[in-house]
Amino acid sequence: MKGLLAGSCLSAIGLTLTLGLAPLNAAHAAQSTMPAVDNTVSPCQDFFLHACGPWIKANPLPAERSIYGTFHELAQRNQNTLHDILEKAAKGTEPGTAKIGAFYAACMDETAVDKAGIAPLKPVLSQIDALKDKKQLAALVASLHQSGIDVLFGFGPQQSFAKAEDTIAAFDQGGLGLPDRDYYLNDDERSATLRGAYEKHVTAMFTLAGDKPEAAAKKAAAVMAFETRLARVTMSKQDRRDTQKLNNPTSFKAFTASAPAIDFTTYVRDVKAPVFADMNVNDPAFFKGLDQAIGETDLGDLKTYFQWHALRAAAPWLAKPFVDENFAFYGKTLSGAQELRPRWKRCTDAADNALGEDLGKHFVETAFGPEHKKRMLVMLDDLRAAYAADIKELDWMGPETKTRALEKLATMEQKIGYPEKWRDYTALAVKKDDLLGNQFRSAGFENAYHLSKIGKKVDKNEWFMTPPTVNAYYDPSQNNINFPAGILQPPFFDFQADDGLNYGAIGAVIGHEMTHGFDDEGRGFDAKGNLKDWWTADDAKKFEAKAQCLVDQYGSYQVAGDTNQNGKLTLGENTADNGGLRLALMALKQRVGGEKALTTKGADGYTPEQKLFYGWASVWCSSARPEAERLRAKTDPHSAPRHRVNGTVSNMAEFAQAFNCKPTDPMVRGDKACKVW
Ligand SMILES: [Zn+2]
Repeated sequence: MKGLLAGSCLSAIGLTLTLGLAPLNAAHAAQSTMPAVDNTVSPCQDFFLHACGPWIKANPLPAERSIYGTFHELAQRNQNTLHDILEKAAKGTEPGTAKIGAFYAACMDETAVDKAGIAPLKPVLSQIDALKDKKQLAALVASLHQSGIDVLFGFGPQQSFAKAEDTIAAFDQGGLGLPDRDYYLNDDERSATLRGAYEKHVTAMFTLAGDKPEAAAKKAAAVMAFETRLARVTMSKQDRRDTQKLNNPTSFKAFTASAPAIDFTTYVRDVKAPVFADMNVNDPAFFKGLDQAIGETDLGDLKTYFQWHALRAAAPWLAKPFVDENFAFYGKTLSGAQELRPRWKRCTDAADNALGEDLGKHFVETAFGPEHKKRMLVMLDDLRAAYAADIKELDWMGPETKTRALEKLATMEQKIGYPEKWRDYTALAVKKDDLLGNQFRSAGFENAYHLSKIGKKVDKNEWFMTPPTVNAYYDPSQNNINFPAGILQPPFFDFQADDGLNYGAIGAVIGHEMTHGFDDEGRGFDAKGNLKDWWTADDAKKFEAKAQCLVDQYGSYQVAGDTNQNGKLTLGENTADNGGLRLALMALKQRVGGEKALTTKGADGYTPEQKLFYGWASVWCSSARPEAERLRAKTDPHSAPRHRVNGTVSNMAEFAQAFNCKPTDPMVRGDKACKVW
């Protein structure tokens, strides 16, 4: 599945909405008017700066952030709402909030956590220490995975590529401490420096855990050596966009025989997975390499690797020295954040992660009403109609593919706000005085929940984002689009604002998600969600030629003054942004009653068409630290916000017209404009 911004699926940006926002009807008046713009910068020169300059000036990057934009501003409002709910819950007086209250209270009790030092992690470290033989690996890995300690590989349910209604078991690559394999393999100076910093960080963590500095440094070198071996056999992010490469159905029997160094039979039994015979392995080459790496690595070094990952997973929830060291590397060095976020924010996020739907139902009561839903349904219908009209008119798509595309569009389902049925957390034990234990048990509870799906029919009502999440996604295996309540708030969506701004913001997001069903990844899945290419070869070729234009366009953009965007990695998202905004404009034109109304100035001096472009820019206003921009350029399938705005509008002749731009202006690509949808 694909989200609207970094950190797809479950981890998203994990934030959340407000007490101030609580009275739904009152707070939006200010948001309904046009945002301030910078008239010293021409919209035709740099639309992002023109539209976002005032916001950026008024919102300097907070020290605790590596990136901050209107997206995050909204997430912060959502988080304030959650905070309010959790503070009340922790007092233990609000009915129906005992569990979220206890979880939050344990997390906020910094004094007790600091006093305990490393003690809460000791049982896990001793368990790793007790490993006597590589034959016992499987049981240990199973136990670590049950606590959310991600070592060696991943295992879980996967919707079958061949039969979309079935859930099967799947194994996947994993086990790295740095965010991507490229960090281990790239030769450039910056990557080498980061590797040095990572090794120092691992050393520091072992030292905090009680090792002498020299012994700790040796351990860090062993971790680096082993992870580098794994990185070498890890499939690149770019390759993973090609779903066919991930589609390797096999039997469990054949899989276990292919990688005998780990006793996978013991592993699946110990994680309590349902018995299964058929499965998928996302990356067979990884497991071959993993098998070899385990065979050729010292038992002692393997134990060191496990210990490092136990420390890494636990660090944010241990005493202050661990929290600080973890932040110094992952927050500061890797992402450029200057300051650790306040504890209440980290604990609110943790509660959203661990008890998302339990907390989410209280959020929805505060922040999402039937009037939101009603207006969203109108926009969804408008966007769907616009896309159908667009497909019918495409000059590069043949009639056969068009028929199937229209069928896929018509059967695409939509979910708005929150689940119809909330998850039951009864089986999760939460203790008021055991933060790390709560985290470990929550990971185990999640694991059990997900593994129980193996062998069952897919539940299409399930959500992969919690209600307060500021994000949205298209799920190709289910052919549905999903909009959590968290994003259905200003500036994305103001149910009282006029259409121009709304269609440019959430309207374009709706269009963005819809087109994912038809882009380079989505078109590999049919209307039911089966991995089946339904395009004629000729149309596929034409699509790719159209898409190449976007690969080249965005590949020429830079971030941090020295790093190019990866045009291929970001292709799907760029196609969706361009298609989304274009469809939103078509939908708006219909909604306001045609071209004339679209281009006629309102009382505030702006045309609905201009407002659409401002609405689009308004959701991406942001600034970022160079470290974060470089990190994202490597790992994020979305382009940097500035390019999401300027790259998209410069491809649209309607934009040039709306702002009277000259053909030579930077925001006018003219003949070079890329257009897929
Ligand atoms: Zn997307």
